[in-house]
Amino acid sequence: MTSSTPLAGRTAVVTGAASGIGAATARALAAQGAAVALLARREDRLKDLSEEITAAGGRALPVVADLTDQASVDAAAGLVGAALGRVDLVVAAAGVMLPNPLHDGRIDEWTRMIDTNVTGVLRTVRAFTGDLVAAAAAGSAADLVTVSSIGAHVVFPNYAVYGATKAALTHLAASLRSELGPRDVRVTNIEPGLTDTELASHVDNPALGPDGQIGAMFEAIGPLAAEDVADLVAYAVGRPPRVNLRQIVVLPTRQA
Ligand code: NDP
Repeated sequence: MTSSTPLAGRTAVVTGAASGIGAATARALAAQGAAVALLARREDRLKDLSEEITAAGGRALPVVADLTDQASVDAAAGLVGAALGRVDLVVAAAGVMLPNPLHDGRIDEWTRMIDTNVTGVLRTVRAFTGDLVAAAAAGSAADLVTVSSIGAHVVFPNYAVYGATKAALTHLAASLRSELGPRDVRVTNIEPGLTDTELASHVDNPALGPDGQIGAMFEAIGPLAAEDVADLVAYAVGRPPRVNLRQIVVLPTRQA
């Protein structure tokens, strides 16, 4: 380990590594010396990022996984363990944001958000908590980082279910910390505000999407870059093991 590679010797899993905050976080952790397993559904994206990290002198493993599918998560955990060994750093960044008026009754979107943003994180926790606890018991730093949202606290029309999933995640992270902290596993919940990623590209209501409401917010506020959030994740997990930044809220300066 050197001052430029404070995460050397650590083994990370990043979900949502195909784009946005997850991809930027994987790059940042690899640049600081961690071996990084890249989890998401789009294999081409994961392979490209893995090649980029390897070309830069890092170590990465692309692993296709759908967090809404238990068998897929189990298979991914098996692949990670076989290729990289015990994991001591997990960043749960995968998520979807599908706003629509609640009275439209979009059960398809509600199910997808709950399955990905809440149950998907629980599946990730279930797959890797054993490793985190074992790593901490063996004297290594051990981290679980959850990517929630400022939407966990701020009520915004059309975002009821997304906000509810993020409020649930923030609560889960606090509860997990009460269980894992005494076992020397840090839990860090990060709540970003508006960040320039692919998240809004899945909005199917033109009035709310990139050419509508969310686009106007980007225009008015000026978003964070995914790298800004990644930088904070790398900072938090690079602290001495006794230091746990348990909750980080990061907003664009102009966001209320
Ligand atoms: P992106 O859409 O760029 O990234 C989302 C990632 O999640 C992608 O890599 C996607 O890859 C992955 N993903 C989605 N569904 C699944 C699934 N079923 N299984 C596995 N992976 C999945 O958006 P962001 O980077 O912005 O989002 C990252 C996190 O940050 C999310 O949890 C989001 O809620 C949160 N956040 C984002 C904010 C913003 O303004 N952008 C603000 C606050 C929080 P693939 O499609 O290949 O599976």
